[in-house]
Amino acid sequence: MCRASETPFERIESAIRDLRGWLAEQPGSQLGAAIIRGRQVIDRIEAVNGEATRRFEKAGGYRADGSLGMVPWLRTHGKLSAGAAAEHLETARQLEQLPRTEEALARGEIGYQHAVAMARTAEHVGAAQVRKAESKLLKAAESMDPGQFVGVAKDFEHQVDAESALTEANRAHQRRYLQIGEAMSGLVRIEGQVTPDAGAIIRTAIEPYAKPSKGDERTTGQRMADALLEVCRRGGTGLVSGNGGGPRPQLIITAAVDTLAGIDGAPAGQLEWGGTVSAETVRRLACDSAITRITGLGELEWEITHASRTIPPSTRRALVARDHHCVFPGCDRPAPWCDGHHLIFWADGGPTKLENLGLVCGPHHRKVHEEGWTLKREDDRWVATPPPLRVAARARSA
Ligand SMILES: [Zn+2]
Ligand SMILES: [Zn+2]
Repeated sequence: MCRASETPFERIESAIRDLRGWLAEQPGSQLGAAIIRGRQVIDRIEAVNGEATRRFEKAGGYRADGSLGMVPWLRTHGKLSAGAAAEHLETARQLEQLPRTEEALARGEIGYQHAVAMARTAEHVGAAQVRKAESKLLKAAESMDPGQFVGVAKDFEHQVDAESALTEANRAHQRRYLQIGEAMSGLVRIEGQVTPDAGAIIRTAIEPYAKPSKGDERTTGQRMADALLEVCRRGGTGLVSGNGGGPRPQLIITAAVDTLAGIDGAPAGQLEWGGTVSAETVRRLACDSAITRITGLGELEWEITHASRTIPPSTRRALVARDHHCVFPGCDRPAPWCDGHHLIFWADGGPTKLENLGLVCGPHHRKVHEEGWTLKREDDRWVATPPPLRVAARARSA
């Protein structure tokens, strides 16, 4: 079957085809061992590829297509992000000085992420220092997941050279950034990196708001995103006011009266920073005071712009005293996290009076506006009704 003319890659490729068929015949519950072996194979190929990368770089092979270096070459041809390309290259370079680590990776004893951590450490304190402790470090790597091992590697760096560890910490500090992207496909990407202490502060601030409530169906990521928003909504004061009735951060949206009135075909709201939000979102934001600029026509504009858009503190206090927490059935998120929702939407002329208000947390406020749920008070009980299918379909396509 195996012809002499076949290259190793042809054999690997045909083996992958066989593997797929073989895996398909295994019962799902038995796939654990196969997945582990699959990961080992991937890691072992990383070791082999690392060596090849090194030789290719030294030979300047990347210049053939005009690339200025291995990183751009790996990005284009290796289909890697800039960060991943740089990591692969640096790891390949460092492992040349750490043959035992490279060997352990090639044998599948440690994973690629362990090797990356070793290479980082060598980059920080010098490969010679790492070589002195290599067997101890490799032993640790074999018994730990890469995240834990990074902790061990960092400890080692401290021991070796407190000064160089500090230099590294300062260098890491230089690489901090936060980027809030442009709105694309209805989402804004937020990404960044900060030093561990800053990360701890941010985590401490956010996590209390990310706890799942009863029957919470949000993913961890969704809860963290909502929690970040919750913290930011508190504004620059950083104070958690007693009832959450303090000033909301001002969000400037330019919306047409038609949009606010929920008329079909009305234009989207325009955000101050660029990007648009759906009419339903405009109506939710208008519900608890966030909108500051409304454009439109004639008398209606006058009425809306002159209506009371903020819930007065005394009304808010009465609302908190009555509702205590989010009134959505089953939700107990506390009052400071809640908006005052107008049961007859404010945008539809519902008054800012206690009998027309209900406390709802951010995610549930979204449900009653963007997701079309209906929230009603019946004999002192709150009833939430899911949207008819049509609204759900529209929300999905938006
Ligand atoms: Zn509302
Ligand atoms: Zn709620």
